[in-house]
Amino acid sequence: MAKEIDTLPLNGRANSPELDAILGKSFKVLDDGFVRPVDYMGNDLSIVQAARVSYGDGTKKGASDKNLIRYLMRHRHTTPFEMCEIKFHVRVPMDIWRQWVRHRTANINEYSTRYSIAIDSAHSTNADEWRAQSTTNRQGSGEPLDYDVGKELTKQEKQLHDMSRNIYRQRLDSGVSREQARKDLPLATYTEAYWKCDLHNLFHFLSLRMENASQYEIREYAKTIGNEIVSKWVPHAWEAFMDYNFDAKLLSRFEIELLGYITRGEIEAAKEYAQKHEMLRNDKPGRELVEFEEKLTLMGLESPWS
Ligand SMILES: Cc1cc2nc3c(=O)[nH]c(=O)nc-3n(C[C@H](O)[C@H](O)[C@H](O)COP(=O)(O)OP(=O)(O)OC[C@H]3O[C@@H](n4cnc5c(N)ncnc54)[C@H](O)[C@@H]3O)c2cc1C
Repeated sequence: MAKEIDTLPLNGRANSPELDAILGKSFKVLDDGFVRPVDYMGNDLSIVQAARVSYGDGTKKGASDKNLIRYLMRHRHTTPFEMCEIKFHVRVPMDIWRQWVRHRTANINEYSTRYSIAIDSAHSTNADEWRAQSTTNRQGSGEPLDYDVGKELTKQEKQLHDMSRNIYRQRLDSGVSREQARKDLPLATYTEAYWKCDLHNLFHFLSLRMENASQYEIREYAKTIGNEIVSKWVPHAWEAFMDYNFDAKLLSRFEIELLGYITRGEIEAAKEYAQKHEMLRNDKPGRELVEFEEKLTLMGLESPWS
């Protein structure tokens, strides 16, 4: 359980001693990547302070600070979370960075391979880390590949990385500009950046990228940011995020109706309802119903059509 929120200083910065203790520390991710918190603004109490202003209460205390944060998270009153900001220095393979930069609400400054020689490191894959194409999700991975197959793939990967790096060096030695010489470097090449984001948008990033639907590699970065850094920086906001966002599930109007039928034991009515709304077709559950079944499993309930 996180400790109670300390009082915000009347003057000076709102600080987080636990984050202060790890500022500048590199948290290793993948084989040669890292996430390093370099600076931040605000703490749990900054969220509370902003919320109380918006409620017209000034700094007067009503609900406990922790409960207020939980209320804000539950009710998607998001702007107080924007009062906190954090800046990271990150080192990420370019293919993963390409996913990362889709999150448009951050401020970014990236290492320039026009200006400097590309970082001499590429994300490599161990023989036991190759994943088969998922058979159920066209975007995802499935079971690990056979170790012997993986060994060969890892060997080929190394040859490819070495060859592309050698050609890159030869181009630079021949006088080719850095901006052109880089064009055939693999996407596995590491890049570095400073990435600054407010807490509301960081939670949005984490809710998408810590989730199983996201690629393993970006999940590793998101989990490091969440578990190792944000949980220490704003423990009450983190706990509320996990309880009401990340570990929570949304129920659609249809799902609420279906849950009602199922818990009342009205199984035929549930089937009819699912059929009427085209969630069940010829006794076969569609994608929406499969997702609902996953929620039923979480609640310890069985789906009536499985
Ligand atoms: C599992 C997964 C699979 C994905 N697959 C693909 C894919 O196949 N192809 C692909 O191109 N992308 C893909 N993406 C990227 C995805 O579509 C989003 O671009 C990315 O997750 C960023 O989300 P966002 O826009 O909500 O975040 P941010 O850019 O951080 O924006 C945060 C929020 O701000 C608001 N916002 C920001 N900019 C605008 C704007 N211009 N207009 C209106 N509102 C805005 C929105 O409410 C948005 O949710 C995938 C993402 C995930 C997690």
